[in-house]
Amino acid sequence: MKKILIFLGPPGSGKGTQAAIVAAKKKYRHISSGQLLRDLSANADISKQDAKMLSAMSHGRLVPDKLIFRLVFEAIRKSLSEKRGVILDGAVRSLRQAKKYQKYFSKMNLENELLVVHIGLSDKSSRFRLSHRRVCSKCGINVPFSSSNLKKKKCSECGGVLETRTDDSLSIINKRIRAQGNTVLRPIADFYDKMKILRTVDGEKTIAAVTKDILRVLKN
Ligand code: AMP
Repeated sequence: MKKILIFLGPPGSGKGTQAAIVAAKKKYRHISSGQLLRDLSANADISKQDAKMLSAMSHGRLVPDKLIFRLVFEAIRKSLSEKRGVILDGAVRSLRQAKKYQKYFSKMNLENELLVVHIGLSDKSSRFRLSHRRVCSKCGINVPFSSSNLKKKKCSECGGVLETRTDDSLSIINKRIRAQGNTVLRPIADFYDKMKILRTVDGEKTIAAVTKDILRVLKN
């Protein structure tokens, strides 16, 4: 299996959920750029400059590339030094970022260690799922959209109350779909497709079915 797996998909496609499942199964490190940003924002010692860059997040916009690369490159370096492969979740969100990652992977002699998994989902499904997913107010775990999760009121890990994510209000959801949905993803997917490292799975299926499809494409 390749050492660097990039998971692409519109918001709500389940890339975070799938990245966590596949990382646990394959003993890879799950690197979620959104989580790295949330960890940074929870850090009491955060610099003024970083806090300013992070403010884009609460408005549904992308944060500056500079901050993403600093956090993600550091996480990749750490995992590879521990001889662990990585799954990048949400870390590539523009063609410019995709190209910059390629330069980094070439510099690190990792360009043959790359596979991109694209989880396809329509913008309509994306909107529905985002408005129905929640996060635990106590332990912070994400509770993805699924028909059974919709009925849950308490976190199954710690019993905390489940609430809507602060970046999941309808107006912000629409902004996120414009900034991170299929229109933006298409050129990124095409970029990887030309390099013959793109594998697409159908994200409209159930979580278990998508996992199965991903594990299958990772073998090839
Ligand atoms: P996520 O948890 O992946 O949904 O990310 C939450 C938010 O973090 C996004 O809406 C963006 O504001 C920001 N973010 C995460 N990854 C990136 C990235 N690669 N580039 C820019 N902003 C990002």
